[in-house]
Amino acid sequence: MVTVANHPNVEIITYAEIKDVSGYVGNFEVTIEKKPRYVDESKCTGCGACANVCPIEVPNEFDLGLGTRKAIYVPFAQAVPLVYTIDREHCIDCRLCESVCGPGAIDFNQKPEEIKLKVGTIIVATGFDEFDASLKEEYGYGVYDNVITTLELERMINPAGPTGGHVIRPSDGKHPHRIVFIQCVGSRDLKVGNPYCSRICCMFALKNAQLIKMHDPDAEVYICYMDIRAFGKGYEEYYQRAQEQFGVKFLRGRPSCVIEDPETKNLLVRVEDTLMGEIVEIECDLVVLSAGLVPRPETRDVAKMLGLDISPDGFFKELHPKLAPVNTKVDGIAIAGVAQGPKDIPDTVAQAKGAASAVAIPMARGRFEIEMIRAVVDKEICGGCEICASVCPYNAISYREVEGHLVAEVNDIACKGCGSCCAACPSGALQLRYYRDHQVIAVIDGILDTHKMINQ
Ligand code: SF4
Ligand code: SF4
Ligand code: SF4
Ligand code: SF4
Ligand code: SF4
Repeated sequence: MVTVANHPNVEIITYAEIKDVSGYVGNFEVTIEKKPRYVDESKCTGCGACANVCPIEVPNEFDLGLGTRKAIYVPFAQAVPLVYTIDREHCIDCRLCESVCGPGAIDFNQKPEEIKLKVGTIIVATGFDEFDASLKEEYGYGVYDNVITTLELERMINPAGPTGGHVIRPSDGKHPHRIVFIQCVGSRDLKVGNPYCSRICCMFALKNAQLIKMHDPDAEVYICYMDIRAFGKGYEEYYQRAQEQFGVKFLRGRPSCVIEDPETKNLLVRVEDTLMGEIVEIECDLVVLSAGLVPRPETRDVAKMLGLDISPDGFFKELHPKLAPVNTKVDGIAIAGVAQGPKDIPDTVAQAKGAASAVAIPMARGRFEIEMIRAVVDKEICGGCEICASVCPYNAISYREVEGHLVAEVNDIACKGCGSCCAACPSGALQLRYYRDHQVIAVIDGILDTHKMINQ
């Protein structure tokens, strides 16, 4: 991240939101709203003196509420750029931060800033959200203190995390000795509408189970699974190691419920062991839900703004799953990472490099070739009804006023020659080059004449 930030040809715009994207490959215009940090980025040195004196503590989003942060904060210690931000929702305006800030970086007068950028190509890499495990009510997430998700466990295991790298029971801060992982929470589950496999949760459960056993060899760790999907290079060996070297116990079955003992806050996991054909109950100190990956809620809005399609799973749709997995139906826009669908780090890196190459090619060439099969408007006939733009899936049609009335205009670069507008135009003003009505009718006549000759 630091290398990228220091690159002379890269500008990172953080704490910002894309408001609009218009144009086409080679000529996109992006409107960005940069939110006020109330800290001058050019002056802040990231020293942290302000946070030390700030009296307000709120739950830290990055630690999923397991730790706290101040009202003036950085999201996490390695954030790039290392610039503090004031959370105005919780700030009490005491101005203590201002009084200790040596470089005078605090600026309560900052306003949202609009930035317009002209860009040739775009890569969409909007990531994912963790499945909301409270939707699986039978597991008690959000109700029982000692039921956590993998991301919460990840924050605990991290040495820089809120518990200093120690796994604890949230109910009493004690070290858990018996831990149960429940796999496929919110994935491969038609009840919650996610039939897909999240592809990473088997491996992160194996990784975390081994880490727990490394810290505490006497801990008992169970993984309740439907199938272990260890499909990557070296993954199967990793799975074997968890069983043989670390003694992680694997139990094939999807737990039906988790029940809490209200006094001890211990948990009872009830599961059918489908290999043994018996119902098993495991009493444990901590349950970790391997929650799946879901698209971010803004995905549909971003797709609409960019003219992209969404797959049935809710992630961005690629142009072709095998032949163009990083391209989209809009020339000049590529997708990378989990924005396109669940994937692990090696696959994400490979896809990101593919996306970077895909958008670099037209930029390096400096030109972009298009087909000549495009919609053309007969301006004499067009009545300006605006039906054509509403059916164009590529946002290729705009309108211009000519002598007091609207006339459609087709952008030859954005148009893909799909013909939808030609079929929808009530006045026949739109025709597809090389497939004009009289050309298609001539082809049909030719075919019918050939049939007549054969049948004579
Ligand atoms: Fe340091 Fe001032 Fe930046 Fe706070 S705002 S980190 S005190 S330079
Ligand atoms: Fe914290 Fe706000 Fe006071 Fe600054 S002004 S120290 S951010 S509460
Ligand atoms: Fe289930 Fe494993 Fe697929 Fe995750 S990766 S959804 S835990 S099978
Ligand atoms: Fe849009 Fe298709 Fe018409 Fe081209 S042919 S302008 S892509 S509807
Ligand atoms: Fe003109 Fe036809 Fe488009 Fe209506 S649908 S605006 S008549 S080109």
